[in-house]
Amino acid sequence: MTGPLTDIGANLTHDAFDADREAVIERARANGVRTMIVTGASETGSLQALELARSWPGTLYATAGVHPHHAKDVTPDTLSVLGECAEAPETLAVGETGLDFFRDFSPRDVQERVFAEQLELGAQSQLPVFMHLRDAHERFLAIVKEHRDAMLRGVVHCFTGTREELWDFLDLDLHIGITGWICDERRGHHLREFIGDIPDNRLMIETDAPYLLPRDLPGDFDPQPSGRRNEPAILPHVLAAVADATGKPDEEVAAKTTATAREFFSIPD
Ligand SMILES: [Zn+2]
Repeated sequence: MTGPLTDIGANLTHDAFDADREAVIERARANGVRTMIVTGASETGSLQALELARSWPGTLYATAGVHPHHAKDVTPDTLSVLGECAEAPETLAVGETGLDFFRDFSPRDVQERVFAEQLELGAQSQLPVFMHLRDAHERFLAIVKEHRDAMLRGVVHCFTGTREELWDFLDLDLHIGITGWICDERRGHHLREFIGDIPDNRLMIETDAPYLLPRDLPGDFDPQPSGRRNEPAILPHVLAAVADATGKPDEEVAAKTTATAREFFSIPD
């Protein structure tokens, strides 16, 4: 086993974990995933993420945000709730926020407004921002550019784009989160060719559990997933894929991604 890992994106409040959440967190810890950032993706979800983080001090931390899918549900109260969450010491970032023009569950103009509002909240609360992007690169880039000077730090989580898109973000001094998408031979293997471009102090890893179960997870990986549900204990498999793609030892990628996550989120010692 490598040194301690940090899963920077775990949707642990998802109802897929309702029956065995504690066991899932214990399994992650037993597999070296010592720290997990619980994604807040809606007003309620952000409150739940904070509550969960409070019950696992030193292991779980939370983000507070509204995913672009839910942008249409944002009311005038939502931002003040997120702002209150952001003041809690367990909340280490604003987000998940961003743009998703692939599913278009919320109208695009609403997604853009709610994204900009959350970038402003991140700047006001001096927290880094955890960002989601799918099929909206140009608008995403334009909005982030407008706010970049005021932003503390930002990560494009679950990066799935091209090398040119990657460099657009590195040029803005943003961080990059890599998920098990890189393990998907149908749509994610292109990432293997250029994730070596990402400097060590910009690269972090995540499961995005319960989503994105790595497609190539070996039958002897311990633990085996329950059905198609991903879980943070599977992060070492993502680590191994990143290490393989960059030609570096697992141990080195573990140490560097963990150090980068600790710095990015200002995780307390
Ligand atoms: Zn996402």
